[in-house]
Amino acid sequence: MNKNSSNIMALTPNTSNKRETVCIFGTGDFGRALGHKMIQSGYPVVYGSRSTQMSNLIPKDAEVLSHAEAAQKAAVIIIAIQRQHYNFLTPLAEVLHGKVLVDISNNLKLNQYPESNAEYLAQLLPGSKVVKAFNTVSAWALQSGTLDASRQVFVCGDDAEAKQMVMNIVRALGLTPLDQGSLLAAQEIENYPLQLFPMWKFPIFLSLGLTAFFFFYCLALDIIYTYIYENKNFSFFIAITIPNRICPVVALILLALVYLPGVLAAIIQLYRGTKYRRFPDWLDKWMLCRKQLGLIALAFASLHVLYTLVMPIRAFVSWRTGKGIISQALNNKTEPLNNTNAWLSDSYLALGILGYFLFVLLGITSLPSVSNNVNWREFRFVQSKLGYLALIFCTAHTLVYGGKWFLSPSAYRWYLPNIYMLALIIPCAVLVVKFVLIFPCVDKPLTQIRQGWERNPKYSE
Ligand code: NAP
Repeated sequence: MNKNSSNIMALTPNTSNKRETVCIFGTGDFGRALGHKMIQSGYPVVYGSRSTQMSNLIPKDAEVLSHAEAAQKAAVIIIAIQRQHYNFLTPLAEVLHGKVLVDISNNLKLNQYPESNAEYLAQLLPGSKVVKAFNTVSAWALQSGTLDASRQVFVCGDDAEAKQMVMNIVRALGLTPLDQGSLLAAQEIENYPLQLFPMWKFPIFLSLGLTAFFFFYCLALDIIYTYIYENKNFSFFIAITIPNRICPVVALILLALVYLPGVLAAIIQLYRGTKYRRFPDWLDKWMLCRKQLGLIALAFASLHVLYTLVMPIRAFVSWRTGKGIISQALNNKTEPLNNTNAWLSDSYLALGILGYFLFVLLGITSLPSVSNNVNWREFRFVQSKLGYLALIFCTAHTLVYGGKWFLSPSAYRWYLPNIYMLALIIPCAVLVVKFVLIFPCVDKPLTQIRQGWERNPKYSE
């Protein structure tokens, strides 16, 4: 065979790639934006509209006809019209018979109608093949070309051939079709753009709740208590001191909450002796939002780093340092370096730095662009092994810093423990249970269960 034949073939224009005409009903925002994109991708576009007058906004290479005339020119018709106007399509049933109708509509509320818009369209026009697509892409993103966030197009439909035709168009536009199955999936696809950070709700509310709780806790113990009993006004603590106490505490608790569901799941599996029974709903949901919990924890830890870095330039800190120097000068006495304190301070800082470094590494590997480039084992190594190491470092960082107050009665203002003690409860519990779980006598049956072994098999061979 001629070595160059494939090159010659590649250079020959591919005439079979000529795009089929696509019809778009509706010359509104979405219809025009999609029409522009289609023309750019080589599709002849014909609009079906109530008014056949061309306007400046309509892509100039497109034709505008009546709905019936436009429908006759294409096998695929995109319905860029709101659901409430779909009734006007019923008289066109004959001309739309056998055509592929693409429903791109969205609603204003979740589950606004008993059936999805696409199913409603299929009921109105039983002779047509309805496919749901494009509803998660915005007209603005199509027109401006900023499709990075919304490159995926969910597609569903009952007719495999019609669905394939629509998926081919999606691909030709430079987008990624995701086959979601039959038209039954349309309701879920229509609800998708109406959801507001669904996986983030629980982590955000939890972190806000923890922040509010610890804020009032610190307000009471650090400001109100000192004002009442020591007659000192430390209200300026609200700006930096208190946030710098809350941020590491919330970060540590959230990081521990990332690993707590895994530990609970292991206990449940050991207790049940099987992995084939579903976890309670709350645990399933908790496990699904671990990434979001971890990212919020990282944000709090980063704030803690920033607050700590500005410490030396704070007026209060300069005043306290100056006061210490003056008091040594007045007493004509230099305090000797306390080696134990120097060790504690350096270890506490070193543990914090290492913990934060691993924390950032966990955050980076959870980004899709990074996680897509590591295999499952590598991902688990970072998220589980290095994740636990980050938890150990951060817990130790808090222990070394807060430990000195644990036994001091002055730390128990109004008989309440210091905020650092509260911060350590969940992380220490998680680490202790995890430590027990890695003992061979516990780890072995757990591994067997995770590989499918059952203590009381339901179906014996
Ligand atoms: P739009 O700007 O209001 O356009 C809707 C078009 O529907 C009108 O321009 C009109 O076209 C036609 N129309 C209006 N009333 C009609 C009636 N009584 N009978 C027949 N046709 C009628 O709305 P849009 O933003 O383009 O949205 C269209 C559809 O796309 C909606 O279902 C929406 O949910 C969906 N969608 C929109 C976006 C977006 O970013 N805009 C994103 C995803 C999905 P003619 O004047 O040419 O007849």
